[in-house]
Amino acid sequence: MTTSSDLSKVDLTRRGLLAGAGVLTGVAALGLNALTAPSASAAGVYVWPNGTNTRPAISSPFGPRTAPTGGASSDHKGTDFVGFATVRAVAAGVVSVTGTPAGWGGGGTQVWIQHDDGFVSRSFHLAPGTVSVSPQQRVQAGDALGTMGRSGTATGVHHHLEIVVGGVQIDPVPFLTARVGGTVTPPDQVRAAKEFAVHNGSWSAIPVGFNMSEKFTTVNMGSGWGDLYGSFGGSLRYVGVSGGAWTQMDSGLPLNASSISAVDVGQSFPHIFAVENSILYHIYADGSGWHKVSTGLTVPGKISAVVLPNNNVQIVANISGVMHHVTTHSGWEIGNSGVPIGGEFKAVNIGGSLQIATLLNGVVHIIWPGAGWQLQSTGVGSSGSLTAVDMGGGFPTIITNEGWSVCVTSVSGGGWVRQATGVSVSGNIDAIRTSGGFPTVYAV
Ligand SMILES: [Zn+2]
Repeated sequence: MTTSSDLSKVDLTRRGLLAGAGVLTGVAALGLNALTAPSASAAGVYVWPNGTNTRPAISSPFGPRTAPTGGASSDHKGTDFVGFATVRAVAAGVVSVTGTPAGWGGGGTQVWIQHDDGFVSRSFHLAPGTVSVSPQQRVQAGDALGTMGRSGTATGVHHHLEIVVGGVQIDPVPFLTARVGGTVTPPDQVRAAKEFAVHNGSWSAIPVGFNMSEKFTTVNMGSGWGDLYGSFGGSLRYVGVSGGAWTQMDSGLPLNASSISAVDVGQSFPHIFAVENSILYHIYADGSGWHKVSTGLTVPGKISAVVLPNNNVQIVANISGVMHHVTTHSGWEIGNSGVPIGGEFKAVNIGGSLQIATLLNGVVHIIWPGAGWQLQSTGVGSSGSLTAVDMGGGFPTIITNEGWSVCVTSVSGGGWVRQATGVSVSGNIDAIRTSGGFPTVYAV
């Protein structure tokens, strides 16, 4: 990680450039490539779930279908394979789930794997009692997971395989067809983090050297630029915006986080909060390991951590569509919001008080805990991600992506300004306060 005491020469050079001519010039001057190939361990060998290079027979393809039985999906999020007995890992990774997770009863006995290349596979309907792997176990392509069965909601013995990229199930057949039988360089889920100063108008790619998860958090540790923390490949990883490889953090816990948020509490390293399997975890990015936060509630949704005065960290969470907030030392309190919280939101400290910006039906709202939501007359919907940052004007500055372009507004009532970015932004977005009155935005 970057601390105030171990900034590299590159970082210091870059800080000077940031304060001067601009981000793009700075990166170009350092001779950094826009994209580097994934490391050797990131690209891997792939097989079909029967462990061979020959695709098994398909009994039901991915996509819309007539539900084969009550309780089965009419929008099939995986591919059903038949004609073999032992279900095998399609690529190397770390087992994240075995058995039947809460809310996933239809899938019966399952194995989920967080693969090194950044995607997740889920195998459903295994025969009960046959699962031969355990959570946190490393597997290679072709390793046995269990025996094909018909547990859960199934009309017959088959293997339902899901491939999840960036939190979304995709069709496994073209995904595997493109990969089986050879080494893949680079996988199509490779994404680069992009950095963008909103007054600058140009994105610069951060050469991260690794697949980029859509789940990341950005924190400004006082150095003038963001440090990026992401959860992928089954662990927490860190990269500085000067590029280079992602550093795997010694967290002592496989982390396939569904949400992650980092904050600066005045130490030389950030504090990071993450949700895995609905449990809230807290880690100091100093290698001392993860701690469960004993809040008395599970957190199935997104979190956003914010530092308030006296280094009091508040965590805002979406629990079943209702805003909750908690400190690490107390129980949850339900925010009296009067309306559900949207899927995308960001907590921000404005003048010492907690404010939250969220998307409700594609429209930006903000709230103070205890007060009602205020609809922002924005003149623009939002189709994607959202983040907010305190730029010192007494109101949060909100950044979102609509139609793959970035829009910025202030909730003081100004209209949205669409940024001419020249790149599409389809994934996660986060921002930090930087000097000059403009945020620096990081996006995938
Ligand atoms: Zn299926």
